Amino acid sequence: MLCKKCKNIILQIGLLKKCNNKKCAIVYWDYKVRKLNLLEEGIFIKTLEDAKIKKHNELNKTANKTHFVYIIKLKKNPKGYMYYRGMTGLHPYERYLNHIRGYKSNKMVKKYHSYLLKFEGLYSYDEAKIREQTIKNDLPGPSYGN
Ligand SMILES: [Zn+2]
Repeated sequence: MLCKKCKNIILQIGLLKKCNNKKCAIVYWDYKVRKLNLLEEGIFIKTLEDAKIKKHNELNKTANKTHFVYIIKLKKNPKGYMYYRGMTGLHPYERYLNHIRGYKSNKMVKKYHSYLLKFEGLYSYDEAKIREQTIKNDLPGPSYGN
């Protein structure tokens, strides 16, 4: 199995795939997640556990460092955006799965997601709000966020 971005080796934990090339390091969910009923809470939680994703209370948050900023690469879409910029108090891999399962999902992300390019944090809520905007300058193509 090779990375869809850099063609390097992909490591798989549960249904989560991570590129082993540190300069790339993209992450994506195996296509098999689409066959699961992830709106069933038990199935959703087991999928996260199988992928060894840290739970909300395991994220080393402090009183004012609570949020991550993340970037999802999109497939070709009618609006011409290449990336989605988001912020979350969840682990970004969990947030990504929420987009896929249609829970607090962004419609474009649900339909056109390709992979999680990267995430940053923890930030305070206000820092994350600002970073969600400024991170667009680091991206090689058009992006949108909230
Ligand atoms: Zn890669």
